[in-house]
Amino acid sequence: MKDSYTIERECSNCGSKEQISVSRREAAFELVDINEVVGKNCKKCSATKFIIYYQTPDLDFELLKEWATNPELYLMGQDEELLLADEKYLDNILNILDNVALLDHKRNLLMDALCVIVYDNTIDDNKQKDENLKERVIKELNKRIYQLKQADDWIMDYIKEVVYPQLELKEK
Ligand SMILES: [Zn+2]
Repeated sequence: MKDSYTIERECSNCGSKEQISVSRREAAFELVDINEVVGKNCKKCSATKFIIYYQTPDLDFELLKEWATNPELYLMGQDEELLLADEKYLDNILNILDNVALLDHKRNLLMDALCVIVYDNTIDDNKQKDENLKERVIKELNKRIYQLKQADDWIMDYIKEVVYPQLELKEK
């Protein structure tokens, strides 16, 4: 796996571009602020507003585990559970839920991510629904109802409305 990722910023005023390279870990957890490295002003026009583009690595088990056990680490961008709600992360998510002493908050996010996978593969808006994937995740959620109940407050109502009726939940 490569270990060099690009962060680029584009000046909102003149369009001039600047780039830096960061490691996979730095890219995954957004540990580097390009404006601190390059300086807060555009080299050409001195403006201070930029659009920033991040190249994002896939998270392997080690990165995901580090995230799950370190309260200081955040994943790229806005909604961590949406980023994690991806089939390519499913095995690692289940592995971490079962074998890693992870933080409560991160466990809740992982449970939320599993619910989002079920949601995404249930709703009609998704034209490429994967029934097998959905069934598999439902089975995995049913094995972890206790953890799901702990995560209840984290999960958005519109997700619950679609996902919970498909689970083996005794009572609300
Ligand atoms: Zn500029």
